[in-house]
Amino acid sequence: MIVRVPVVEKILSINDQLAEENRARIQSAGLFSINLMASPGAGKTSLIEKTLPRLKDKCRVAVIDGDIATSIDSDRAAAAGAQVSIQINTGGDCHLDANMLRGALDQTDLTQFDLLIVENVGNLVCPASFDLGVHKSILIASIPEGDDKPYKYPAMYRGVDVLVVNKIDLLPYVPFRMDYFEHGVQVLNPGVLTFPLSCRTEEGLDAWVDWLFQNAIHPTRNLELET
Ligand code: MG
Ligand code: ZN
Repeated sequence: MIVRVPVVEKILSINDQLAEENRARIQSAGLFSINLMASPGAGKTSLIEKTLPRLKDKCRVAVIDGDIATSIDSDRAAAAGAQVSIQINTGGDCHLDANMLRGALDQTDLTQFDLLIVENVGNLVCPASFDLGVHKSILIASIPEGDDKPYKYPAMYRGVDVLVVNKIDLLPYVPFRMDYFEHGVQVLNPGVLTFPLSCRTEEGLDAWVDWLFQNAIHPTRNLELET
């Protein structure tokens, strides 16, 4: 008898095992960790740039940047004040997986940090399928992308713990129906914690940074809530 295991399922189950190992490592180091996902240009790196100076002197932050090529984003994170900024070049892969994150975690002593920010590869499709083993997955939507994205990319919206809606300063200039967008989000992910903000004008940033900070200083409490 021949049993065929679809390749995708096999890859995902190996990924889940490695994600569990990452999770155990992050938990024992006692830091809070997030996975930032978004389409290219939605503002992942900009959000990191605006967030880090506000956390300076309050908590120690490591940033791991996934990109297909170049170290532009990790250079920006370092310039913004990340104590450690690690680059993962995926060599063409359009998402991070748990094995890549494991390799990056090997590069640093996690116990030295309060917060780990992982910036995923810009992509609205597959990053949602690959558990990395961090505490919270966060999706950044942005106004110029359009109000139909929850309907077109349901897997991304369904799986995330937090939604950031960036570039709200552009609402007067682009056709974006907030009620249509919000309806799509609520169907997929009812009650998801949402932070509308603008990295450019800095409106709404304080609420986001405060949420991050509260989790970073109480990572143990947060883990208890998770289980
Ligand atoms: Mg980026
Ligand atoms: Zn991919």
